[in-house]
Amino acid sequence: MQPNAKTPITIAGAGLAGALLATLLARRGHAVEVFEKRPDPRRKGYEGGRSINLALAERGLDALRQAGLQDVVMAQAVMMRGRQVHLAEGGEQLQRYGRDDSEVIWSVHRGRLNLALLEAAEAAGARIHFNQRLDGVDFDARRARFVNDHDRTAREIDFEAMLGCDGAGSGLREALRPHLDLAERFEPLGHGYKELEIPPAADGGFRIEPNALHIWPRGGYMCIALPNTEQTFTVTLFLPMQGEPSFHTLPDLASARALFERDFADALPLLPDFDAQWTENPVSGLGTLRLQRWHLDGRAVLLGDAAHAMVPFHGQGMNCAFEDCIALDRHLAAAPDFESAFAGFEAERRPNADAIQAMALENYVEMRDRVDDADYLLQRALEQVLADRHPGRFVPRYSMVSFTCIPYATAFERGKVQRQILVDATKDCASLEDVDLAAADALVTGRLAPL
Ligand SMILES: Cc1cc2nc3c(=O)[nH]c(=O)nc-3n(C[C@H](O)[C@H](O)[C@H](O)COP(=O)(O)OP(=O)(O)OC[C@H]3O[C@@H](n4cnc5c(N)ncnc54)[C@H](O)[C@@H]3O)c2cc1C
Repeated sequence: MQPNAKTPITIAGAGLAGALLATLLARRGHAVEVFEKRPDPRRKGYEGGRSINLALAERGLDALRQAGLQDVVMAQAVMMRGRQVHLAEGGEQLQRYGRDDSEVIWSVHRGRLNLALLEAAEAAGARIHFNQRLDGVDFDARRARFVNDHDRTAREIDFEAMLGCDGAGSGLREALRPHLDLAERFEPLGHGYKELEIPPAADGGFRIEPNALHIWPRGGYMCIALPNTEQTFTVTLFLPMQGEPSFHTLPDLASARALFERDFADALPLLPDFDAQWTENPVSGLGTLRLQRWHLDGRAVLLGDAAHAMVPFHGQGMNCAFEDCIALDRHLAAAPDFESAFAGFEAERRPNADAIQAMALENYVEMRDRVDDADYLLQRALEQVLADRHPGRFVPRYSMVSFTCIPYATAFERGKVQRQILVDATKDCASLEDVDLAAADALVTGRLAPL
């Protein structure tokens, strides 16, 4: 079946990836049917369930630009210039992400972003069926069963090709298991998270610096806070599930308060509603999902979190899912049939997903444990110097991931080389003045080809 011959396409999940992909494919002329297990957020309010706001970076922005959605999303985004580090001993320090305000990331509201994407998908001609959870697939007959969890009704539909955008708990992935050796591995991080909210100040403004991603790094754990356009911040506590301290050793409010009084003393006064929020808000787990296969010939393919859920510490899960959508749309437009489109998509994207999953795990250690280290700060300072001296050759890994669309796998590999250059060049140095810049330049030109 030729995918570029206006073939109908079925998508499971109208979350971030599903709604964007529906928009792109409908605009190409495909008849797109999307089935989403949740109710229509325009009728029932958004039932997102997790992470109220998200960091949007260049890859995600690029995808939104291609879908014509940049303006509507950016109208409600808050700029984050860097990490505002709240030191354990008191005091704060802004660590810029990039050179200037052209290299920043953006805090966006998940619910509003999803809504904008759903409206764009419908405007492009996609049909979205809410309250329809994918419950099973007969791949031989190309028939799928959907259940409405509210009234318990079920329906079956025929499909040509099913695209799985149904998130980390994907129903399509479950249906594929008996038909395909996915070589699936879920690696729990062993750490979970709880969200809290900092309300606006009495005058209606932000209580802390709005244009930053706040971090309280505390070694084995941390809090972060991202700004919202309502002058609030969403705070996320990341903590081990077991051990000391952990969610397990915080059985009651008093122990949670004691942890905040000890480790997040400047955050606690920002949370006047701490007791109620701590009691009501759930603890959720985190982990990395790895699959060796993402598609069943030309019948089904997985993308976004359904294929490669990751820990959130690089703020790239959605950005990566959006990049998947652009790639799959491109392969579907160019390939002679679904099978080669899906195979080409998987071959392009799987190494990149592996790379960003690894970088996301590394970033957790960096954020919670390294951002206030002296050797880390020296390496960061030299990194900026080398980036200025070798533009187009030495680009900090964070910048490659967040401010460019250089493939993640390339950023990962070059990042390893750059890290070693920084370690070698700062060996036995106490400050930037001690660094032999000519020798550092030679390491850069000797080990890194121009990008
Ligand atoms: C705490 C936290 C913070 C994060 N922060 C960031 C960040 O700052 N930046 C970033 O880029 N990413 C971030 N992420 C990751 C990001 O949330 C995900 O990568 C992104 O949501 C993936 O999009 P998706 O469309 O693949 O899945 P989802 O957004 O999960 O969408 C899946 C959709 O499928 C629906 N669905 C599920 N099962 C079925 C079924 N059986 N049938 C039909 N529909 C179904 C769901 O209701 C949902 O609408 C964060 C994640 C977490 C947990």
